[in-house]
Amino acid sequence: MLRTLETVLEIDLNALEHNYNYLRSKLKPKTKFLGVVKAYAYGSDANKIAQKLEALGVEYFAVAYAKEGVALRKAGIKKPIMVLHPQPINFDELINNRLEPSLYSPKILREFYEAAKRNNQEKYPVHLKFNTGLNRLGFRENDVQYIIDYLDGRNEVMVASIFSHLAASDDTNERTFTQQQITTFEKIAKEVDQKIGRTSFKHLLNTSGIINYPEAQFDMVRSGIGLYGFGNDKKIDAELKPIATLKTIISQLHKIEPDESVGYNRAYTSDGYRTTATLPIGHADGIGRQYGNSKAFVNVKGHLAPIIGNVCMDMIMIDVTNIDCKEGDEVIIFGENPTAEEFASFANTISYELITGISQRVKRLYKGI
Ligand SMILES: *Cc1c(COP(=O)(O)O)cnc(C)c1O
Repeated sequence: MLRTLETVLEIDLNALEHNYNYLRSKLKPKTKFLGVVKAYAYGSDANKIAQKLEALGVEYFAVAYAKEGVALRKAGIKKPIMVLHPQPINFDELINNRLEPSLYSPKILREFYEAAKRNNQEKYPVHLKFNTGLNRLGFRENDVQYIIDYLDGRNEVMVASIFSHLAASDDTNERTFTQQQITTFEKIAKEVDQKIGRTSFKHLLNTSGIINYPEAQFDMVRSGIGLYGFGNDKKIDAELKPIATLKTIISQLHKIEPDESVGYNRAYTSDGYRTTATLPIGHADGIGRQYGNSKAFVNVKGHLAPIIGNVCMDMIMIDVTNIDCKEGDEVIIFGENPTAEEFASFANTISYELITGISQRVKRLYKGI
C-alpha cells in the first residue's frame, strides 16, 4: 500500500466486485441487475465504478439527472442508463445521449413525448414510475388510463419498463406497509399490461428490498448502497465490504496547556495537558460541523481520537493525547474502523449522506483495477 500523503478517498474495486457478487447471489438466475451510480456512485466515482460494473455484467445503470448520464456516456458506458429524475430542460441532451427517462407525471410524459417528436425518435424507451406509497415521485394508479390513452398511436416513445420504489424496505417493522406497496405495484403493473396488450418489464427493489423481499424481484432489481458496501443492517454489513476509505494525514501536532482553547469560537477548552493534531480535511470536503465537538472519532494508528472543537472549512483538530503519532502519519476518517456507517452515526446520520457528501476536492485513488 502506498503511503498516504494527503487527503484521499481510496476506492477498492475488488470490494465492489465482492459486493456485486454477493448481491447477485441473492437473485434468481433471470433477474437483471441495475447498478445505481447516481451522485458520483454515492460519492466515489461514477465513471470508474460503472466501467467496472459493466465489465462484471451489470445490465442497466441509473443516475438521478441527465448530466450524470452524459458523463457516463463520455466515459464509454454502453449499457442502458435510466435517468430517475430528469428535468424537461435536459430532454434534448438526454435523447442525444440515448439516456432513458423515468416518467412520473402526466406533465413529464407530455413534455418528453414532445421532445422525442422534435428529435424524430421512434419507440424511444421510457420508464413509467408509479407511486405506491413513498409519495415522492410517480404516477398514481388512476393515471393508468390517461397514460394509455395518451400513448395510443404516439409511436415516438415506447414503454420499456414500469417500476416503483419502496419506502421502508430496510425496516422489518414496516413489513405490512411494504407488502401493501408490493401488492399495489403488482396490481398497477397488471392493469398496464392488460391495457397495452403485452407483458412489460418490471422492477421494484433497492438494496434492502433484495435482502428482505426476495419474492418481489420481478425482472430487475436496482441496487446502490449495497454495491458500495452497506446493507442498512448489521448482518448484511458483515457480508459486504465498504469500497471507500477516507484517509488523511497529520499536518501539525500541538501541545496544549490546561485552559487553552482550540479552533474557532474557542469551542474546545482543554482540561489538562493535551496533544492535538490538525488534519487537512474539513466541511468543504464533506465532514460537516455536526462531527465536531467530540461527537465523532477518527482512527490514528488503531486508536480512536475525537474531533475536538468546531470543524473548519479545510481542517479538523483531533485529540491524540496518549497516541504515539507524529506529523505526516496517516489518519483514517472512515473505512474499516470506523466504517462510514459508524462514522455517520456519530452525527445521527446515515452512510448514504456521509459518503455522497465527500466533495470532489478529495482525490480519488483506486485499488484492485
Ligand atoms: C437511489 C435509488 C435506488 C438505490 O437504492 P439503494 O438503497 O441505494 O440500493 C433504487 N431505486 C431508486 C428509484 C432510487 O432513487
